[in-house]
Amino acid sequence: PDLTKGQGPDDAITQAAATGTGPLVVVEHVHKHFGELHVLKDINLTVDRGEVVVVIGPSGGGKSTLCRSINRLEPIDGGRILVDGKELPKEGKDLARLRADVGMVFQSFNLFAHKTILENVTLGPVKVRKQGRQESEKHAMELLERVGIADQAAKYPAQLSGGQQQRAAIARSLAMRPKVMLFDEPTSALDPEMVNEVLDVMTGLAREGMTMIVVTHEMGFARRAAQKVVFMADGQIVEENTPDEFFTNARTDRAKDFLSKIL
Ligand code: ADP
Ligand code: MG
Repeated sequence: PDLTKGQGPDDAITQAAATGTGPLVVVEHVHKHFGELHVLKDINLTVDRGEVVVVIGPSGGGKSTLCRSINRLEPIDGGRILVDGKELPKEGKDLARLRADVGMVFQSFNLFAHKTILENVTLGPVKVRKQGRQESEKHAMELLERVGIADQAAKYPAQLSGGQQQRAAIARSLAMRPKVMLFDEPTSALDPEMVNEVLDVMTGLAREGMTMIVVTHEMGFARRAAQKVVFMADGQIVEENTPDEFFTNARTDRAKDFLSKIL
């Protein structure tokens, strides 16, 4: 399938994002420390439904910590984070369900090595969403088709290329019908020839209306798919801008300096 073409709202993928009103993700005055290290310093960020936000910035700036905080893989020390109007509980039975509203794809593919690709994709829906196996497998196959690896369903992760594994990881996240998808440098561990097959899947998702927060330095993707670029350094959001403005005419010296080094 041509993954770069928007195909209109795809029920298998974006249905959750259509419900509710108001911004989908609200990050309000968030602080995070690791011991003495102040890693997130009063972060404020709003992500609207269907919006794609690219987060860019130097290593160590807090991008991954922000993603992990939104998904509650990291507790925060101050402020609050709302997803679809709800603050995640610190623990309890609602945590797993609400956390499943936030899909996350990491730099390393994080697939279960001893499960097939199909099993990797059906595990969450069966265990967390309490969805039936048959329904889960049908949905999983649709998603694997969608990311172009349906023919790999019976294989184990190690039998796939890096690009295929990352697309499987995306399908696995989508299987939970998340309201928002977080991508933390999803292509930086890939061989160059495999970067585009993953970015194309992400661009397709963006066109279908998936709400996405994407940490990446891929300028082409940002220009194609994002409405907003957030430049983060030293635990702060230094600049928020449109992709076109950011890459051609950044407002802050900090961003200009960073861009002069990566472009
Ligand atoms: P980025 O993703 O922008 O490179 P990170 O969020 O990974 O930045 O890291 C921000 C800062 O927090 C860095 O100084 C990093 O060393 C530190 N850090 C990240 N995770 C931990 C952790 N689990 N324990 C201690 N320090 C951490
Ligand atoms: Mg990081």
